[in-house]
Amino acid sequence: MKRLSWDQYFMAQSHLLANRSTCPRLAVGATIVRDKRIIAGGYNGSISGGIHCIDEGCYMIDGHCVRTIHAEMNAILQCAKFGVPTQGAEIYVTHFPCLQCCKAIIQSGIKTVYYAADYKNHPYAIELFESAKVKTIKVPFDNFFEQNNQQEKLELFADVLKKLENAGVDEKEIRAFYEKAQSIFSNGV
Ligand SMILES: [Zn+2]
Ligand SMILES: [Zn+2]
Repeated sequence: MKRLSWDQYFMAQSHLLANRSTCPRLAVGATIVRDKRIIAGGYNGSISGGIHCIDEGCYMIDGHCVRTIHAEMNAILQCAKFGVPTQGAEIYVTHFPCLQCCKAIIQSGIKTVYYAADYKNHPYAIELFESAKVKTIKVPFDNFFEQNNQQEKLELFADVLKKLENAGVDEKEIRAFYEKAQSIFSNGV
């Protein structure tokens, strides 16, 4: 069994949180970690008790939805609300932070940003992270569960084909099945 790395564990948490997003434009998740412990999490959504974009549509100004608070911001504010220090912490995000979140991350004392996907990486955000000595590290999300599952399915399929082969089914036919199975299971991994 492959053991899940810390990076993938926290990244998985952020991807899980992203599914709580209430704005259909982009689902983002963020997890703040200190000493290998999750101290806060957030996703992009409206203020508590507010109207959700998924229910009533986005509130668009200049091509941006202004209704939501970004995932990173929500995670940092959760720390503010409950008095949890963010100094020296790390943040795991599904997407590269926007300029506003970049500044909030720097100012909160977070020292490392792990992001799974590039997203309009703003040159000024990159510059600010660099000058503030905040490391940005790309950690593509593996989708561990999916992968394990895929391997299991492929193995099961290979077993079935072996049985067919033993039963005297045409070798060429079996090979075609096997190739097809491999192409299906290797997709999206
Ligand atoms: Zn929206
Ligand atoms: Zn943002």
